[in-house]
Amino acid sequence: MESIDQFTCLNCNSRFSLDLPIWRCPCGGVLDVIKTISFDPSCLKNRHPSLWRYREVLPITSDRSIVSFGEGFTPMLRMELSNRTVWIKQDHLFPSGSYKDRGSTVLVSKIKELGIHQVVEDSSGNAGASIAAYCAKAGIECDIFVPSSTSPAKLIQIEAYGAQIHLVPGSRDDTAKAALGAAQTVYYASHTWNPLFFQGTKTFAYEICEQLNWHSPDAVVLPAGNGTLLIGSYIGFQELLMLQLIEHMPRMIAIQAQHCAPLYHAYQQKTKEVFPVNAKETLAEGIAITNPVRGRQMMEIVYKTNGQVLIVSENEIRASLKEWCKKGIYLEPTSACVLAGLNHYMQTTDAEHVVSVITGHGLKSNESIKKML
Ligand SMILES: *Cc1c(COP(=O)(O)O)cnc(C)c1O
Ligand SMILES: [Zn+2]
Repeated sequence: MESIDQFTCLNCNSRFSLDLPIWRCPCGGVLDVIKTISFDPSCLKNRHPSLWRYREVLPITSDRSIVSFGEGFTPMLRMELSNRTVWIKQDHLFPSGSYKDRGSTVLVSKIKELGIHQVVEDSSGNAGASIAAYCAKAGIECDIFVPSSTSPAKLIQIEAYGAQIHLVPGSRDDTAKAALGAAQTVYYASHTWNPLFFQGTKTFAYEICEQLNWHSPDAVVLPAGNGTLLIGSYIGFQELLMLQLIEHMPRMIAIQAQHCAPLYHAYQQKTKEVFPVNAKETLAEGIAITNPVRGRQMMEIVYKTNGQVLIVSENEIRASLKEWCKKGIYLEPTSACVLAGLNHYMQTTDAEHVVSVITGHGLKSNESIKKML
């Protein structure tokens, strides 16, 4: 069958070859990847427990382009919560300490395949550290823009991988603007704009369904900042439905911090339009996104899957962090926020099979955790 794999613009529907070094449509719209999917799970039997076991659905042409540490296929913890069983995917156990490696391994592989030698990225910390790690492995030069308020541990990690750090005063939005400026001349390895990143995060859905013996959960409870995990898993679940490997689409439950909740406002207004908010500082720095590039796409997913947007207070983040540390799980405050949201959700649902996630390792946030104990 001839491949129809292409970029498509969500704004004007233009199509582009996946071999073009683009990350945004000339019209300014966000791009998605459309891909012919064919995949037979019987091939999985003898494959390594990494996310590259789903090789056929990842848009990389040659195996020689793959930049990988053997990441993924993270263990799921089975737990009792509100008298029901939930599974928590342990995505803090990735090589750079966060699930962002799902997107980076696929995006940087494609960058290597395209013969690109230099990239820019901007981040509140984890995406930058992740892209820097994979660029280090691939020998690609990389410049990371971060807010000057970023956690010291994340800055050290980015620098240690050999990336060039650019500290930007002001908000996370100001940092994004600075990176966009640099991206006029250098390829933008953006986890928010670049659709190839989402081709990596979609493996989250493949792993869950394989680990649940090719059943889809009733609901997945996920962080919602820029939506890399929310949109990525939706893409994955959709492909699995198309392949008839699962029987239904799970409800997508998006968790935000009360102090920075643009999606929650849209949800309350019952609209898809997401407007920038004036945020207060939050412990959940990984999802403190006031003006998400793919906000509309996230809201469409929430509505289409009969999902919800829930918010969590700073006190709840603190309590959740302590509670999970006492269970032996060392996690970032951002991840504690998601699990506090999971608690909310469990109190209101009769869903039987619920999956959530630990997105980032506590070792990334030692200083802020120390203050919370
Ligand atoms: C990036 C990040 C998130 C948020 O994910 P989005 O894709 O921006 O919604 C959550 N937790 C951690 C630890 C992160 O690094
Ligand atoms: Zn367009």
